[in-house]
Amino acid sequence: MIPRVECPTCHRKVEWSAANPFRPFCSERCRLVDLGAWFSGARAIPDESTPELTHPEDDAAPPER
Ligand SMILES: [Zn+2]
Repeated sequence: MIPRVECPTCHRKVEWSAANPFRPFCSERCRLVDLGAWFSGARAIPDESTPELTHPEDDAAPPER
């Protein structure tokens, strides 16, 4: 018996099986829709990483000599 889950995007019943690579979504489209929503939310978080704060060349001594 194949367990069934609800597609988070369109709430359709989806068979949770290896035949469905997009599980728990019903299709690739629904998966991309959900991922898009997730990323748009993640983009609201400010990126505090400033590359100019790190100077790897100052700390790392040259291995040769
Ligand atoms: Zn769906």
